[in-house]
Amino acid sequence: MTRHRAVVAGAGIGGLAAAVALHRRGWDITVCERATGPSAVGAGIVLAPNALRAFDAIGFDAARAAGHATPAAMDLRRPGGRLLSRADGAALAARYGRPPLAVHRTDLAAALADALPEGALRYGTAVTAVDGVGADGPPVVHTSAGTLTADVVIAADGIHSPVRRQHFPAHPGLRYSGETAWRTVLPADGPPVRAAAETWGRGERFGVVPLADGRVYLYATAVVPEGYRPADVRAELLRRYGTWHDPIPALLERIDPAAVLQHDLYDLAAPLPRFHQGRLAWLGDAAHAMTPNLGQGGGQAVEDAAVLAHLLDGADVPAALAAYSAARCARTDALRIRSRRAGRVAALTHPLAAAARDLAVRATPARASRRMMDDLFCGFALPD
Ligand SMILES: Cc1cc2nc3c(=O)[nH]c(=O)nc-3n(C[C@H](O)[C@H](O)[C@H](O)COP(=O)(O)OP(=O)(O)OC[C@H]3O[C@@H](n4cnc5c(N)ncnc54)[C@H](O)[C@@H]3O)c2cc1C
Repeated sequence: MTRHRAVVAGAGIGGLAAAVALHRRGWDITVCERATGPSAVGAGIVLAPNALRAFDAIGFDAARAAGHATPAAMDLRRPGGRLLSRADGAALAARYGRPPLAVHRTDLAAALADALPEGALRYGTAVTAVDGVGADGPPVVHTSAGTLTADVVIAADGIHSPVRRQHFPAHPGLRYSGETAWRTVLPADGPPVRAAAETWGRGERFGVVPLADGRVYLYATAVVPEGYRPADVRAELLRRYGTWHDPIPALLERIDPAAVLQHDLYDLAAPLPRFHQGRLAWLGDAAHAMTPNLGQGGGQAVEDAAVLAHLLDGADVPAALAAYSAARCARTDALRIRSRRAGRVAALTHPLAAAARDLAVRATPARASRRMMDDLFCGFALPD
């Protein structure tokens, strides 16, 4: 029997999850990644219960393979330290079957890459265009290292997706959220951190998340003009967050500026009309880039991968991709919109508006806050 063949553009969490899922269903896989090797500078990622369920559907035990921390709680505080809300890890586990887990992105990517056969992942190979995607196929993938053909091509080439721009030239593209984000991971040579915490100031946020083996993932956001880059990132972070509650100042003192990532935050200005064209499918940020305010971008990429592989299993490729679009467009677009709205609230700069927001958060019972996450955390299912 001839084996089906897939080419995946991009070895981020979505592309690798799709590659692993299809490989486990007997497909031949080639993953083309533009970067010349795994990323040396890392960040953490929180995998929500729906993301973990999607990994289960792929048959990949992300928690075991990548190493993880299970935060005892997820706190929301004001810069002075006052607690606004607490999501207890045990209560989340009881409600959703499992608590959110924090993993190091590099560890997760390495674990997924290890689940692929030798030679399937090609670094230093940028996909430049995908042609011949009509139902008659096979599509032709042009890369910086030559041309490939496949039964299906998966564009998992991230938020700036060149393949999206090629096939949806009239789409308005990305929209700046008004915020930038800094991220870094501290080594395990400081006091232990057990709970995850996010602190909301005015137009500024700071997050602390424990990772496996005592490492600590830090992130911070600020309302700034697009493209703003401080000359001295450590001084900038100390100036903005250095007087906030403990342990933030001490954690900031340990930062290595060379290991700080900065990305301006964008989402898609409008939804794509569909996530496929003939034998070409988009997934993850390439399909539905959203701001990180709900911590769902990576989780939705894994959901995409699980659904796509499930639908491609034994089915006619164009029909499977049409079913994939039908299954995924509405959920991911609702989250894109909700994430942008959540970001607007979290990033309020006016003192009165921020104070009213904090009061509203404090007045919301923990059980009601958890209920608001139900459709996020319980909303993943494989289609029939
Ligand atoms: C500050 C921040 C915090 C976040 N926190 C969370 C969180 O806690 N939980 C969560 O679920 N999500 C989170 N997200 C969102 C999450 O990071 C993304 O949604 C997720 O990484 C998307 O995965 P992806 O595979 O679609 O894209 P990416 O991870 O961006 O991967 C795309 C890959 O494609 C490669 N590529 C690009 N162009 C080409 C090309 N032409 N040819 C070949 N390869 C190419 C890139 O090099 C890259 O490796 C966060 C995002 C940000 C910015």
